[in-house]
Amino acid sequence: MNSWVELSESRLAANYRALAEMAGVEVMAVIKADAYGHGAPACAPALARAGARWLGVADVAEGVAVLASLAGVEPRPRILIMSGLLPEDAPAIVEHDFAPVVWTLPQLESLAVTVSRAGAAPLGVHLEIDSGMSRQGVAPGPEFDGILAWLVAHPQLTLEGLMTHFASAEIAGSPQTTLQRERFEQACRAVAASGLRPAWVHAGNTSTIDNGAEADPMAWLARVARTLSARPMVRSGIGLYGYSLPIERAPGFSGPVAARVHDRLQPVMTWKTRVMALSDVAPGEAVGYNGAFIAQRAMRLALLPVGYSDGLRRSLSATNGSTGGWVLINGQRANIVGRISMNLTVVDVTGLSGVNVGDEAVLLGDGITADDHASIAGTISYEILCGVRARQRLA
Ligand SMILES: *Cc1c(COP(=O)(O)O)cnc(C)c1O
Repeated sequence: MNSWVELSESRLAANYRALAEMAGVEVMAVIKADAYGHGAPACAPALARAGARWLGVADVAEGVAVLASLAGVEPRPRILIMSGLLPEDAPAIVEHDFAPVVWTLPQLESLAVTVSRAGAAPLGVHLEIDSGMSRQGVAPGPEFDGILAWLVAHPQLTLEGLMTHFASAEIAGSPQTTLQRERFEQACRAVAASGLRPAWVHAGNTSTIDNGAEADPMAWLARVARTLSARPMVRSGIGLYGYSLPIERAPGFSGPVAARVHDRLQPVMTWKTRVMALSDVAPGEAVGYNGAFIAQRAMRLALLPVGYSDGLRRSLSATNGSTGGWVLINGQRANIVGRISMNLTVVDVTGLSGVNVGDEAVLLGDGITADDHASIAGTISYEILCGVRARQRLA
């Protein structure tokens, strides 16, 4: 891989602290998908040092890698396995004392059997309520009541957390969020009636903290947590890395849509490569596959050893009719020309001063953000960041 990612530990820590300050409640640092492409083993200790007591990963394999990275870190954050579990995951979850998100009886049964067999201490689990996203979780109702009764009867597992996830957190005045809150409160009432007392109640993401429709977006969560004598927590991922979704207005909503924390977040990732070669082309020469770009004048081109296999989206390609993405070489903008190849990309350095073979080219960072790539590629910053495949190092 001929590109690398430099991670700013100071920005990562500052972003975490800004989010925690704005939230005013515990913030779980979400480092699933290899910390959104930043490298979870690099980010986890940095976030723990910044004060994170909870880390969220996608699966057991990520949890094991993150745990290894935390050797010697005190206090060691607890690790939430967020994206469900397969039956074969239970032994590793119990062995490492990970906190799994659960919502079905078979999940609970496989964990309880594993705890019993291992003679292990009770395992803390987090029960996800499907409050209206129809993705993960159990909706309030008879099935949910059955799970609560099962938990009361099985001391191998303790209900450590009760959680839900919002589908439209970045929409100010979202009626979907209002409905989800109501259903989650309904679930909390059932938990209260069961006698179970989770230590944590958690909901929401970066956009929940950022959404300025309410003066204190965490007030609702804090109130709901109090009804169970639990502590409130919000889970933030994208904000840690310096990005957030734009806050949008729900139809008919006339209140504020200001972003509360967006302006304080700074990109953590700088993705770089080096100029591999320079060449001059005459007017009329084709550049790249299918001659999608024809030089209209004499041009000086720089070849970069990265392409779509590294996560540089092919939709950043440029033809004569449409400009695409750009990179920064010595702080100067160099437009991509022609089609991005699997491992190679050509950029226009005509007229740029002092560009030499071996110079660094910034693919993502200050001056060219994941939001820029996302708007050209028709996606969101999340997908751009997760797609970067490069060596990572803290800087
Ligand atoms: C990914 C995820 C988050 C974090 O979302 P961001 O928008 O990145 O802050 C929070 N909760 C759940 C359940 C998630 O899957």
